[in-house]
Amino acid sequence: MSNVDKMREEAKKLVSECRFVVGYERGTFNHLDRALIAKTPEDVDKFVFGPTSIPNLTLYAVTDFRRPLKRGESPDARPIGIVCKGCDAKTIVELVREHIHARDQVKIIGMPCKGTIDPKKFAMLYGEDNDVKQITWGPDGFLVDGQAPKGDLLAGKCLHCKVRNPSVTDVDGMEQVDQPEAAGFEGIESFEAMDPEDRWRFFEGQFSKCIRCYACRNACPLCYCHQCSIDIQKPFNWTQKFTELPDNTFYHTMRALHLAGRCVDCGECERVCPMDIPLRLLNGKMAKVAYENFNIESGEDPDRPSLLGGCDPNDKECFIW
Ligand code: SF4
Ligand code: SF4
Ligand code: SF4
Repeated sequence: MSNVDKMREEAKKLVSECRFVVGYERGTFNHLDRALIAKTPEDVDKFVFGPTSIPNLTLYAVTDFRRPLKRGESPDARPIGIVCKGCDAKTIVELVREHIHARDQVKIIGMPCKGTIDPKKFAMLYGEDNDVKQITWGPDGFLVDGQAPKGDLLAGKCLHCKVRNPSVTDVDGMEQVDQPEAAGFEGIESFEAMDPEDRWRFFEGQFSKCIRCYACRNACPLCYCHQCSIDIQKPFNWTQKFTELPDNTFYHTMRALHLAGRCVDCGECERVCPMDIPLRLLNGKMAKVAYENFNIESGEDPDRPSLLGGCDPNDKECFIW
């Protein structure tokens, strides 16, 4: 049985015991699969999974668990089911350790994954109005309508992925994929090698492009505050709504700090950014700082508090001086 058939089989079992199961169905826009909230076995028949199953579906879990009840509505204690790639399943670990939901409130159908395409690279190579019918995994990488692609299509986050086979799942028996040795923070280290002034100038240039559409914040399953501090105008006006460089810099540094040691590198913020701002680089640098100083990695250990949710008497205090 293929992994996709196994996924559908498991999802059909779950729809009877869960409020819903969220998986992927074929989208209508340029080979980007979209979320399908399945409530019946017939819905599950539409589930697909492959290199275009890109969105991090845990956003639907956090949105559901954070939704205020309507007047007169009773809480529904049934769990929800989610189809997760390895990077997305790490989000569940973060949500559990931040007490957004209990582990048993979510049933994870963990899908082994050989990497997803970068839709922006795909559009560059094939155009927005291409007539490509299908992108699949072949033995040596992606196949575009059965042929080798015109160029590199792999999403940046997949280059250093350590969880092609999800580290957390509620479904056994999936056929595992090869896990290449992951090179840690390699992409960040080349950025760190730049002169500090050049790094600052680089990010000034990036932040000045930002139109503050907040798509990055809205796509991020770990940016879940009911009211974001950037929107609070009273009693303190932390920042203006203008897209001037100081205000944009405040937004991005504030968001990076709030995600330090929590960001799971699902890449959704960068994917949805209309201005192509390299947000993974910023969040990746924070992840490296969190790892090197506090030995904490996102999505690894649900029993350990998140970086901003705990402290250790042995924590380094060098940043104070
Ligand atoms: S980061 Fe890993 S699990 Fe996530 S899409 Fe890429 S290869 Fe798959
Ligand atoms: S998605 Fe891009 S342009 Fe929009 S607020 Fe985020 S960084 Fe700025
Ligand atoms: S900051 Fe970006 S990469 Fe990190 S968890 Fe949020 S959406 Fe994913």
